[in-house]
Amino acid sequence: MWSSPLLYERLTWPEVRRAAGEDRVCLIPVATLEDHGPHLPIDTDLRITGEICRRAAEEATDEIVLLPPIPHGYSPHHMDFPGPITIGWDTFTRYCRDVGTSLARHGFRRMLFLNGHGSNQNLVEMAARLVGLEHPEVLAAAAFHTSGAESARLIAELRDSERGGMGHACELETSMYLAIDANAVDMGKAVDERGFPAGRHAWMDWSDGPLKIMPWWSSFSRTGVHGDATKGTAEKGRALLEAAVAECVAYVRELREKPLPERRRPQETVA
Ligand SMILES: [Zn+2]
Repeated sequence: MWSSPLLYERLTWPEVRRAAGEDRVCLIPVATLEDHGPHLPIDTDLRITGEICRRAAEEATDEIVLLPPIPHGYSPHHMDFPGPITIGWDTFTRYCRDVGTSLARHGFRRMLFLNGHGSNQNLVEMAARLVGLEHPEVLAAAAFHTSGAESARLIAELRDSERGGMGHACELETSMYLAIDANAVDMGKAVDERGFPAGRHAWMDWSDGPLKIMPWWSSFSRTGVHGDATKGTAEKGRALLEAAVAECVAYVRELREKPLPERRRPQETVA
């Protein structure tokens, strides 16, 4: 039997062909390297998203093939802080699309980009859409981790901060990182900073408000944090990670249940 979880990069080419024949979902973690306050490493999005995907692949051993994470994303508005590696929005979108179309070329028909960086969201969604346009027989999806309805319920239940406390390098990300590797987090430097210009329709939390605004990060955050990092605990992090993994596995299973798309000739009646 194969290793568990099934790691794409460790397969031989005949094994890639076999994995594609098993109708597995290609799980592609996507993140960015960028400042996460004075208390968290710049790999926060990468580490958390990679961990969620790895655990999901361990749980759904026969249903997933795990791709190596895409480490670099779209973070130009963070460049006043030392650390971010930012990729042009169009280059990044095409890069993600090309990962997907390569997998499609090898026979994979279902794929999920699991993203862990807010500003990648619409670009990763576009990349997934472009894969499907080029390969109409492929179901390509994108999701932002820990943002489904059940995760939202858990967040509401366990959070100690108000809305705005879970934006970036925040209660949520600090908790998750603590649960993964507490030694990498310096809680002595954690701050509570919530400078985003929030209002009735625009706010930044793990799920943002409907009115989308994204100014330069340095215009509203001195430390790079938006949220209450001081409320982070490993215990909350463990619960959040568990929810994130369950959510990811549920997305994978839903993708596997769906019929593959088939383009058809339009007609004037439903039948
Ligand atoms: Zn982050």
